[in-house]
Amino acid sequence: MRLFIHVILAGIYLSAGAAAHDDPARAHYLGNEGVMIVHDKTKILFDAFYANSYGQYALVPDDISTAMMAGTAPYDRIDAIFVSHVHGDHFTAAPAIAYLRAHKNVHLYGSQQVYDAIAAAGVAKDDPLMVRIHGFDLDPEDEAKSFEVGALIVDVVAIPHAGNRPTIQNFAWRVTLDDEVTVMHLGDADPEPADFTRHQAHFDARKTHAAFPPNWFIGLERGDMILKDIIAADHVIGVHVPKRAGGNGDQWRARAGGDLFTDPGETREIEGN
Ligand SMILES: [Zn+2]
Ligand SMILES: [Zn+2]
Repeated sequence: MRLFIHVILAGIYLSAGAAAHDDPARAHYLGNEGVMIVHDKTKILFDAFYANSYGQYALVPDDISTAMMAGTAPYDRIDAIFVSHVHGDHFTAAPAIAYLRAHKNVHLYGSQQVYDAIAAAGVAKDDPLMVRIHGFDLDPEDEAKSFEVGALIVDVVAIPHAGNRPTIQNFAWRVTLDDEVTVMHLGDADPEPADFTRHQAHFDARKTHAAFPPNWFIGLERGDMILKDIIAADHVIGVHVPKRAGGNGDQWRARAGGDLFTDPGETREIEGN
C-alpha cells in the first residue's frame, strides 16, 4: 500500500513538473508600450514607468500601477525592468525610483540616458539604489551587448528612434526567460531595414517568440519585412497605439492587419520552445 502511494505521488510530481515546463508565457499589457512578460515564476517589465501621455497615449491605469507598486499578483515578484528610451511616454524617473525603493531586489536596465535621468532626478551617486540601475552606452552601429542575470538571458542593440531623433538612445531589448521563451521590445524604433540588417547575426543568434514593435510597423511593408524576415518573430503584437483605440481593439486590429495591444490589462499567450 505504501509503495502504491509513493508511485502515485511520483506520478503526480512528474506530471506537475512536466506541466510547469511546458507552460506558455503570457504578455500583459500595461499601457502605451508597457508590457509585463510572465513565464512560470519569472517576470519582467518593459517601459512600465512613465508619466506623460502627450495627450494621446494610455497611461498605466491607476488600478494596475497601484497593484504594481504594492506587488500584488500578477504584478508581484518582478525580476527586472527594461527601459527602451527616455521619452516621457516610456520612462519617467520619479515613478521608477519610487518602485525601485519599494522593491529592493529589482534591477533596472536602460540606456546611459536613462541612468543619467535617474541621477538627475536627485538620487545621489552613492545611494545604494544606483547599484541597481544599469545604463548602457550603445550606438546603432555598436554590436549587441549581452549578459545573463538569474533566469534571464539579455541581449540589446540600439535601433534609431523613428522620426529622425538621432540624439535619443532607443534600445531593442531581447530577453529570454527560463531558457524557454524569448521576447523582444523595440521601443520607438524606426522601421528602416538597414538599421536592422546590420544586426542580422544578433537576430539570427536566438529565436524571438514574440516581438513588441510600435504600431507603425504593423501593416507597413518595411515593418512587416523587418519583423518577419530580419527578426523572424513567431508572434508580433504592436504597442504604442493611441488611447482612443481602447475599447475598439478589434476594429483597430482589423484595420492594421495584425495584432495590437489596445486595452491595458489584456493579455496574450506566448508559445516558447
Ligand atoms: Zn520616443
Ligand atoms: Zn513613444
